[in-house]
Amino acid sequence: MKGPNELAFERMIRIAEVLPWSSREAIYAGLSRIILEQIMSTSVSSALLSIESDEEVGRKLKILVKSSLRGAMETAEVKLTHSDDLVDIYVDAFDKKHSRTRISSTGDKCNWVMGCPGVESATFRGTRFEPFTRLDDDHIFPTSRTGRFAEAGLGQKLCRYHNIFWKGQHIAFALDDFWLL
Ligand SMILES: [Zn+2]
Repeated sequence: MKGPNELAFERMIRIAEVLPWSSREAIYAGLSRIILEQIMSTSVSSALLSIESDEEVGRKLKILVKSSLRGAMETAEVKLTHSDDLVDIYVDAFDKKHSRTRISSTGDKCNWVMGCPGVESATFRGTRFEPFTRLDDDHIFPTSRTGRFAEAGLGQKLCRYHNIFWKGQHIAFALDDFWLL
């Protein structure tokens, strides 16, 4: 039997997917990334509990997280095709030093994965609603999180609300559909 949260979830999806700036595929694209971020970040967090020093922590984390993820996939009886590579992406990202570079991007509306009607507008500049009406140049892959799978130079437009409050440093929102297979 479905619990109240599962039912609520289904109701929310039905509303979200009919919004004119969205679609069922877009909603699932975003939701699957949110869940991926949950899987990867908490697996790293859990593995850290059994590592005793900062020495070679990246290498140790990769081994532990790959193994725990394999166990979870076995229990769940589903597979992420690129699970080992995903672990490398996440661990490298968390382990890397930050660096900031500017990026440029084209377009005149927000590119948020679940759909967003946000465009640039001066009306609310300087007000608390500014984040909804301001387009940022966003590094598709967060600058601090580039690794061997990520192109640091790719940019896109995101409204500031999605760029700062939703995407932030989350890695999953930078990953294209290939990584979710
Ligand atoms: Zn947006």
